[in-house]
Amino acid sequence: MSALDCPSPACDARRKAGQCLCWDCWDALPGPTRRALGIRDELATARLQILHRELAAAVPPHEIEINL
Ligand SMILES: [Zn+2]
Repeated sequence: MSALDCPSPACDARRKAGQCLCWDCWDALPGPTRRALGIRDELATARLQILHRELAAAVPPHEIEINL
């Protein structure tokens, strides 16, 4: 798995440099989740870890909620 593969196991697209997901998976995230991931503060890393943990657990992107 290259560093630029989309982290969603169900997806073989490539993410863009500086993006955490490919565009398709990003678009599939619920709006509040996208907004939460866009916040750059001391919890940003924790939010990203939740995203990756959910993806690794095969949670579909449209069901991932991040409430930090
Ligand atoms: Zn993807």
